[in-house]
Amino acid sequence: MKYVLVTGGVVSGLGKGVTASSIGVVLKACGLRVTSIKIDPYLNTDAGTMSPFEHGEVFVLDDGGEVDLDLGNYERFLDVTLTRDNNITTGKIYQSVLDKERKGDYLGKTVQVVPHITDAIRNWIESVSVIPVDGKEGPADVCVIELGGTVGDIESMPFLEALRQLFFSVGQHNFCLIHVSLIPVLGVVGEQKTKPTQHSVRELRALGLTPHFLACRSAQPLLESTKQKLSQFCHVPVGNILNIHDVPNIWHIPLLLRNQNAHDAVLKHLDLDRVAQTPNLQ
Ligand code: ADP
Repeated sequence: MKYVLVTGGVVSGLGKGVTASSIGVVLKACGLRVTSIKIDPYLNTDAGTMSPFEHGEVFVLDDGGEVDLDLGNYERFLDVTLTRDNNITTGKIYQSVLDKERKGDYLGKTVQVVPHITDAIRNWIESVSVIPVDGKEGPADVCVIELGGTVGDIESMPFLEALRQLFFSVGQHNFCLIHVSLIPVLGVVGEQKTKPTQHSVRELRALGLTPHFLACRSAQPLLESTKQKLSQFCHVPVGNILNIHDVPNIWHIPLLLRNQNAHDAVLKHLDLDRVAQTPNLQ
């Protein structure tokens, strides 16, 4: 299994979900089978009891799972049918660990965030990623994992640690990290500012995760000089800095990625370039 992890920095609501779905669409258009997992680091077991005014649409899956609206994006973008287990929350993970603790499964051990919670997260990801969601048999080729929230949030820490361990165990060619970040423009100066992104990448790196790609959300396309600066200070090759500027309709984003040859770079990184086809997107 190949994993594509999408994290976010600087602010929430940047478009991680849309970016993750769009990466999935482009990979699917290259002939690969794609599944997805959304991680929500909140303590609710699921989104069913959360106010739509605060949280947006509660998306109901075919198996009755009441989940985050991003799973709706995945189903619509990727034409898949996800299960309630494709949405991982802190609540679900703690519940599973506490149930095991009550059953005595830890045999007198002290139950801790590391390793018990992080192991539960890894095991959950590894087992859910192989569930077929596209009506075909056998596991998908690629699992796109979106980590909700913003890097640096206390709630996300066990997930980032579990994902770091997963990255270490599956290796560089089976794991691709795309960090979505904001490039603001300050009114008077009119310059695209890279510092918030530099800080969030530094935060990720301090946790043992170095992004392979940056997906930069900005009002206007990135200037070449902005890309150079990001590359130099964030340790990401210029060719792996993707532009996700504001578009009138989110269905443009897969095309935006395809036009920047994001699929080529991701496929090369994941060692899938020989099996993939030229993307067939209208
Ligand atoms: P996150 O997962 O980071 O919270 P979402 O993917 O849910 O963010 O996107 C937040 C909002 O921003 C959505 O309403 C989405 O339609 C919009 N959005 C995302 N990317 C873009 C873009 N490039 N241009 C315009 N709107 C976008």
